[in-house]
Amino acid sequence: MTRRIPTLLAATMLVCGAAPAAGQTWAVDDPVLKRIWTLGMEESHAERIAQPLLDSIGPRLTGSPGMKAANDWAVALLQSWGIEARNEQYGTWRGWRRGITHIDLVAPRVRTLEGTMLAWSPGTNGRKVEAPVVVPPLGGDSAALARWLTTVRGKFVAISFPQPTCRPDAHYEEYGTEGALERMREARSLAEAAFRRSVPQTRDFHRRLEEAGAAGILTSNWSRDVGVNKVFHTETERTPVLDLSCEDYGLVYRLAANGQGPVVRLEADAEFLGEVPVYNTIGVIRGSELPDEYVLLSAHYDSWDAASGATDNGTGSTTMLEAMRILKQAYPNPKRTILLALWGGEEQGLNGSRRFAAMHPEVVEGLQALFNQDNGTGRVVNISMQGLVGAGAHFGKWLARVPAEITRHIDLQIPGAPGGGGSDYASFICAGAPAFSLSSLSWSYGTVTWHTNRDTYDKIVFEEIRNNATLTAMLAYLASEDPERVPRERRVLPPRRAASQGMAQRGPGVPSEWPQCRPGAERYGS
Ligand SMILES: [Zn+2]
Repeated sequence: MTRRIPTLLAATMLVCGAAPAAGQTWAVDDPVLKRIWTLGMEESHAERIAQPLLDSIGPRLTGSPGMKAANDWAVALLQSWGIEARNEQYGTWRGWRRGITHIDLVAPRVRTLEGTMLAWSPGTNGRKVEAPVVVPPLGGDSAALARWLTTVRGKFVAISFPQPTCRPDAHYEEYGTEGALERMREARSLAEAAFRRSVPQTRDFHRRLEEAGAAGILTSNWSRDVGVNKVFHTETERTPVLDLSCEDYGLVYRLAANGQGPVVRLEADAEFLGEVPVYNTIGVIRGSELPDEYVLLSAHYDSWDAASGATDNGTGSTTMLEAMRILKQAYPNPKRTILLALWGGEEQGLNGSRRFAAMHPEVVEGLQALFNQDNGTGRVVNISMQGLVGAGAHFGKWLARVPAEITRHIDLQIPGAPGGGGSDYASFICAGAPAFSLSSLSWSYGTVTWHTNRDTYDKIVFEEIRNNATLTAMLAYLASEDPERVPRERRVLPPRRAASQGMAQRGPGVPSEWPQCRPGAERYGS
């Protein structure tokens, strides 16, 4: 069920007879809420939190020196605001340091290519590797592929589907003649399906190419907009694996497929650092009345590393840090304990938050509410009650006190359904603890920034971050002050068939069983 907050607020306003003030609309005269508004909307630190984090420290791949630097920086920042903070080790991971990637086409003509190593790729050990590029045979069987593997030693192999166009579909829609978009799409999907039948797209195949002695593996994971690729990881140990831009990959592929003798020169540095400790960064503002009950502000801090991890999840991290700064000033003696958790290892399976939940049963037990943000820079537009039947009444009460300038965008999903994964609130809702996702408007998150080479500082819309940090601080204050605990009574989940009919909500569909808590990996490969 979806309930729009404006209705709720409008009702409250009628009762109070309050006229909207210029710029903000208050249902109650609460000096703490007003102070939070001033600090969050008019005296925001969001830019000065995000800029050094994203530009100077940069991406925060789990197990990388960048992640550890970001952990230490956050602790120092919190302490500079007078907030108790620590890094808490939750396990270890495969340490890796990214160095430069430099890749050039040197024949049949010279062009510097836009490309980078996948995460955890080996480099070239200080050498420049120059070799021809070859492409796999199409249309053959697995025996043909195996025969081809015997020919790749010392060569660069291009194994991704070469996109017929690096234009987004919207161009075809806007400029093509009637049916042009459909014709292009059909041709593309037929060609891609045929390609995928011939060429495996797995990390296992990377390993087979490594065993066959390939000099390097060229891939391209285009994200369907100009200049945007998604860049994930590989598990090879000697053979570098690169992602090339849609355009440059297509160029090199076509030269090879047409027998025009492409030669590539690669210089790439990477360092494996062995098994390294990994941390969650924890901040604490102790509760004065109910210190064993918790309001937890939550965001994953780790990222993929082809850009800066700005919207995944620098924005969620900035929002939660900024909310803590605001709360320390506007509400320094909370009733319940306010915790900040900047999680590690989310991208490898919610490992930081799952380990935290296992290591801190007292927090799971005493949780009043957890607010997690992890889907980009947009203003919060959707909050699901995650299947807790009593949660909606509390959110209704809290949000009625938040200015309409913030709440008018928000849909509450009541009762919603418990998330089984997706982000770190799932590590708590699985135990029935009140854990919620502050879900953002997209701002083209899925295409342009999520796990891409374009997830950079400039993509942040700070007006939206100010809105979200102010909202989060207000929710934390209101949840902390609430005279009652948020109840944990679970809805009866519909049978699977009903789940697929009309019960759809954002993200995965309504599950038929309450998701089970998983332990979270304590180390790489465990
Ligand atoms: Zn994320």
